[in-house]
Amino acid sequence: MLLRHTTPDIKERKALMVNPAKTCQPIGAMYASLGVHGCLPHSHGSQGCYAYHRSALTRHYKEPVMAATSAFTEGASVFGGQANLVQAIDNIFTVYEPDVIAVHTTCLSETIGDDIPQIINKAASDGRIPDGKYVFHANTPSYVGSHVTGFANMTKAMVDYFAETDGHKKKALNLIPGYVEPADMTEIRRLASEMNIASIMFPDTSRVLNGPLTGKFKMFPQGGVTIDQLKGSGSSTGTIALGAIASAPAGLAMDSKCKVPCQVLNLPIGLLDTDLFIDAMRRMAGVNVPESIDLERGQLVDAISDWHPYLQGKRVGIVGDPDQLLAMTRFLASLDMHPVYLVTGSPAGKKFEAQLRQAVAEVPGDVRIKVPGDMFLFHQWLKNEPVDLLIGNTYAKYIARDEDIPFVRYGFPIFDRMGHSYFSSMGYRGALRLLEKMLDALLDRKDRDSSDIEFELVL
Ligand code: SF4
Repeated sequence: MLLRHTTPDIKERKALMVNPAKTCQPIGAMYASLGVHGCLPHSHGSQGCYAYHRSALTRHYKEPVMAATSAFTEGASVFGGQANLVQAIDNIFTVYEPDVIAVHTTCLSETIGDDIPQIINKAASDGRIPDGKYVFHANTPSYVGSHVTGFANMTKAMVDYFAETDGHKKKALNLIPGYVEPADMTEIRRLASEMNIASIMFPDTSRVLNGPLTGKFKMFPQGGVTIDQLKGSGSSTGTIALGAIASAPAGLAMDSKCKVPCQVLNLPIGLLDTDLFIDAMRRMAGVNVPESIDLERGQLVDAISDWHPYLQGKRVGIVGDPDQLLAMTRFLASLDMHPVYLVTGSPAGKKFEAQLRQAVAEVPGDVRIKVPGDMFLFHQWLKNEPVDLLIGNTYAKYIARDEDIPFVRYGFPIFDRMGHSYFSSMGYRGALRLLEKMLDALLDRKDRDSSDIEFELVL
């Protein structure tokens, strides 16, 4: 009963967040930077921030996360971090030899007001950036936004710094996957290649944060989008940005900078949003959908129809990042489940909230939504009226245990289970995996609570 202090008595709060459902911007920026090949993320701030950001990513992905820091002390905190960053750039290129450094700011360097482009220019004019190497940056103050906006800002910076066009179009699509797992990025790319579509995915953390153990340490793993691919992305036929909060800023920046038309879609979670993704790729690339994808879709439809009786009408509480929350809610509503409590910690805006309301328009009864909200309020709602299933990151397990609710871990971070880095929840196959997880949780509970005469062999 770790959260036994949570009371069912709900009071309106504005200036206080309890048990937040988000983490800080630089974590998302660091994650996005790791999706560029040969890139060393650099945290412009104090060592404490950087240690926390690295450890949060390492605990989730179970991989060493390489990054550097400007290591602010009292002097830099008062006089600014220019000298630290210029020196750091020099040291990093000399010692670690990355292709590119991705600098993100922290609360401290933002409060001081360090002008990062000016500092990068100074490093370049001082000869600290070797030929053929790059430094780019994103502003990620953590007193606004969340890890999701940090990811969005760094992904947009990839477009701002690198995308270019000579006016000639190449037959390729840009795919911006959103703040998803490395396995999800692999799955999104696989669906494109199954349709014979050449694609440039950025960022791409597959084979960076779910790479093989070879016995040989590699500072810069094999995966990640290359700088040449990022430059070429400005000549692609079109861009599909998956997730309005994490990916749309980069997709729209690409459109305005290089005139590459962008379509913003929900994450391809579940049947309907995967259909929309496949259809958008089909139309943009001018190809047909192959039978292999029809087969995957048909298998999902079959599984949904087989297991619908166990899912329909189940009340669900979901706490998660906005793009995941919206797509997951739409998926559950399409299964006739009742997603009734929906919370995201990210400040995703009124338009997002309206989309979420639209997704649950046909769910009967009282549906509660809080954008941005926290897990304390989410827990209070559950105390007032319980649900049949809870979906959230590892922090939600305390609520699930306190309230004795079946629980599916989903989102970021997941510190206490494996699988999320290797098995996708995107596309038709990913939807099968989500179905399996939800059914396992619900049916394990049914088995646990059944009397001897109700304890069935076949369900
Ligand atoms: S919230 Fe700000 S000070 Fe705290 S770890 Fe994140 S960037 Fe650093």
